[in-house]
Amino acid sequence: MIDGSGERYDVAVIGAGMAGMAAALFAAQRGLSCILIGSSGSLLFASGLLDLLAVQPVAERRLWSSPYAALAALAQAQPEHPLARIDPSAIGTAFQTLVSALASAGLDYAPLGEHNSNVLTSIGTVKTSFGVPLTMVAGVAALGQRPPCLLLDFRGLREFSARQIAATLADGWPALRHQRIDFPGFEAMPEVNAVHLARALETRETRARTIALIQPLLGDARVVGLPAILGLGRAREVHAEFEARLGVPVFEIPTMPTSVPGLRLLQAMEAVASVHGVRRQQSSVRALTFDGSTALLELDVQAGARVSAGAVVLATGRFSGRGLTADRQGVRESLLGLPVQQPASREAWHQRDFLDPTGHAINRAGLRTDGDFRPLDASGQSAWPGLFAIGSILADQDWMRAKCGSGLAVATAWSAIAQIAHQLRGTEPETSTR
Ligand SMILES: Cc1cc2nc3c(=O)[nH]c(=O)nc-3n(C[C@H](O)[C@H](O)[C@H](O)COP(=O)(O)OP(=O)(O)OC[C@H]3O[C@@H](n4cnc5c(N)ncnc54)[C@H](O)[C@@H]3O)c2cc1C
Repeated sequence: MIDGSGERYDVAVIGAGMAGMAAALFAAQRGLSCILIGSSGSLLFASGLLDLLAVQPVAERRLWSSPYAALAALAQAQPEHPLARIDPSAIGTAFQTLVSALASAGLDYAPLGEHNSNVLTSIGTVKTSFGVPLTMVAGVAALGQRPPCLLLDFRGLREFSARQIAATLADGWPALRHQRIDFPGFEAMPEVNAVHLARALETRETRARTIALIQPLLGDARVVGLPAILGLGRAREVHAEFEARLGVPVFEIPTMPTSVPGLRLLQAMEAVASVHGVRRQQSSVRALTFDGSTALLELDVQAGARVSAGAVVLATGRFSGRGLTADRQGVRESLLGLPVQQPASREAWHQRDFLDPTGHAINRAGLRTDGDFRPLDASGQSAWPGLFAIGSILADQDWMRAKCGSGLAVATAWSAIAQIAHQLRGTEPETSTR
């Protein structure tokens, strides 16, 4: 229980999105005591795919099959980009560490190689990503080879139409069939929810009934695709049973947020953080002050509740996370009032054309940092030696257009925690930044 007397940690991470969760995990794995403060709602919106870097330059929408080649191009063209400032081998290690930790919580990803993969989306388009959940992998091969394939959806499941996906892909994939079925036990419901279906498939009986409905529809299909509903915490087991009993590879297609793969990712991140001893506090930090080598954080759980830490990681996100706030005067960093790099006036925030390929200047606004991701104060110096900023709050990046959301979060988390471990524990400095 946190009270007025406070608790002391090596590291306090503020914000529990992808960046904050990854930072807390990496800190705990290095033996640092860590508290992770904030609600984790934002991770729910993730698709479960872990993007590293797919598009560079953003203005040309150039897609890369190798995220590492894309990183090299980024380093040449935009050396100030946060991902361009981190050694690619450290980025690879960070992803590998994350994916291994997720596997220990029962969430499997395909082995990470050197390449991005193309994944089918729920509207029949293709998304290029790096870390692909194992339940989606057969879809990557199917999209490449286009064999006879049965696409399924479920009556009442909104925003997912196998017919629409098949229609979008019909020209290049004539052997793609689609079929709609009733989900066993939910036949009377006009509307069904992916999370409810995923939970239902964790029971042996519903699994058996669903598979029995699909078997007669298989025909010549050599692969089966369906919306991402193959279980929550037990997706490994549910997916394996579908493949074994249908006798063909089975793949999930990510659905719109809030999605089952996003929920799986959130639950697995929460589980690994807990196993590694991260103290979780579901509240907000309302004030952050510094006293010599100690940071003092005031929480909103109760009057006077506070914790102290030797280092702080600011992972509070952008506007939706409320790490940044916009008003008539411009964009502000919400907690400390740190200077935000931003366009000179509001008129310059957006391009005239909303779909302008170069993106909007406001999306590249954010915190400037030193080479180790310490945010800078108004004088251009690091605001406090133990304060680090990571993830989407950083300036000079447009993660949505570059398709580097998880990459930015995970790589900057890794880099900041390596530096914190060095500072607090005197471990050998690592060349995680360049
Ligand atoms: C719809 C959607 C789809 C996405 N799909 C993908 C995808 O397919 N692949 C991919 O790689 N990435 C994807 N992402 C991006 C990724 O999941 C992350 O959202 C993104 O990388 C930003 O993460 P972040 O941790 O920096 O910020 P956020 O996710 O915004 O998290 C910041 C957190 O800080 C908290 N916070 C703010 N202020 C305080 C405070 N004072 N005290 C405590 N907590 C505070 C907020 O509540 C919030 O939870 C997607 C994101 C969205 C929104």
